[in-house]
Amino acid sequence: MTQTFHTVGIGAGPANLSLAAMYDTLAPHDIALFESRDRPGWHDGMLHSGVRMQTGWVKDLVSLYDPTHPLSFLNYLVTTGRVYALLGAGFDTIPRIEYQQYLVWAAGQLPRITYGTRVDRVEFDGALVSRSGGAALARSRHLVLGSGTVPFVPEFLDALDPRHLFVADELHQRLATVPDEPDLPWIVIGSGQTSAECVAALLARGCRDIRWIGRRSWFAPLEDSPSANDLYRPAYQEAFLTLSRDVRERLVSGQILTSDGISPGTLRGIYQHNYEERLRTGRFPVTIMPSRTVTGARQLDGEVELECLTAGSGEERHRAVNLVVAAGRRQAPLPFDPELTALIDLDERGEPVIESDYSIRWKHADDHKIFVLNRGRYVQGLVDSNLSILPIRSAMVLNSIAGRTVCRFRDDYLSTRWA
Ligand SMILES: Cc1cc2nc3c(=O)[nH]c(=O)nc-3n(C[C@H](O)[C@H](O)[C@H](O)COP(=O)(O)OP(=O)(O)OC[C@H]3O[C@@H](n4cnc5c(N)ncnc54)[C@H](O)[C@@H]3O)c2cc1C
Repeated sequence: MTQTFHTVGIGAGPANLSLAAMYDTLAPHDIALFESRDRPGWHDGMLHSGVRMQTGWVKDLVSLYDPTHPLSFLNYLVTTGRVYALLGAGFDTIPRIEYQQYLVWAAGQLPRITYGTRVDRVEFDGALVSRSGGAALARSRHLVLGSGTVPFVPEFLDALDPRHLFVADELHQRLATVPDEPDLPWIVIGSGQTSAECVAALLARGCRDIRWIGRRSWFAPLEDSPSANDLYRPAYQEAFLTLSRDVRERLVSGQILTSDGISPGTLRGIYQHNYEERLRTGRFPVTIMPSRTVTGARQLDGEVELECLTAGSGEERHRAVNLVVAAGRRQAPLPFDPELTALIDLDERGEPVIESDYSIRWKHADDHKIFVLNRGRYVQGLVDSNLSILPIRSAMVLNSIAGRTVCRFRDDYLSTRWA
């Protein structure tokens, strides 16, 4: 028989893990998560050696709402016996693999997570019914989509031989199968942290002929100053939510480097490696090529050729044997069936209208909330795309489900007056 839960969460990434960790607030109500990966994990294809988190460890699943919660990062460190070793190692920001292992540890303590199950259809028949491969998995009163993002691969890259096309998320795994030929030419496309990590991974592999092509006019660093961090606090989010959509869009594009810039340490690593190799071998292993938009690609005999438009409206062609694409990410598709979709208010882009409590506007929203997490950067601000205040988002969702304030949080020490 199909099981019934108070809430079903699609995806067991940090967004829904945080919510599930805090769901006891609504006990005896329960939440069940369905996850398409076959085991706990987190961006497992992007755990290259040396990569670091872009956020501090206190920004875990629960601590900013409840630092006494058993699933805090600090409790993970203490109970797994690694706290002194981590402190002693003196990391500025923790290795990404540490955060991944923390999530695996936390997921292991949460009940009702089913792995290896992709929800491909959600219907409404008086309850929300989540389905996979035709079978009904669960019925629930509420639904939370925490399905995250998927890599964006421009369509024109379909023309390339897949053996020579590496989507960044797979590079770590596939690099092990590539012949060890240091002079093989590579191109990496992308302007963000992921592209920089791919360049660093190729350097670590000994590659000596890498062209790094990006659209931005420079490979811009992450803006991580105190004033930038002001944008990632509940008080700013509250102010942001009062603004019109046009203003929010303008602000988000102006703030983008507080979220999507490259960690200065990653950039320094690449530039320092490049410099040293120039001293040692007489040539730079990485040619840094900003201000270029890749507009087309074709597969030649044993080579990939890219067409680029430069910022000065010039055209260029670049060839390499292998291409790594790190061209950003898009929201995972929504699994709503057509009848349910017809009940949902869509905006001019065809996206569900998202309310300030992360729920979408739809016909039965009074009794059945559908929340979308990490999909509303133009509603809630860039904070929605990041880990910075995950527990606060979970608290807002829980308050919305309860229909009253069951989770109180404070952000009182404010020296900034936003307008
Ligand atoms: C490599 C990388 C590093 C990042 N590092 C940071 C950082 O240091 N700090 C920061 O603030 N932000 C970071 N981010 C941005 C963001 O915080 C993360 O992407 C974060 O994982 C988002 O959490 P999420 O739960 O929304 O999505 P995800 O982590 O993507 O989780 C979504 C989950 O849903 C599953 N899923 C998708 N569709 C379905 C379906 N139909 N049925 C069942 N399961 C499904 C997926 O398998 C996945 O496990 C990073 C992003 C990337 C790509």
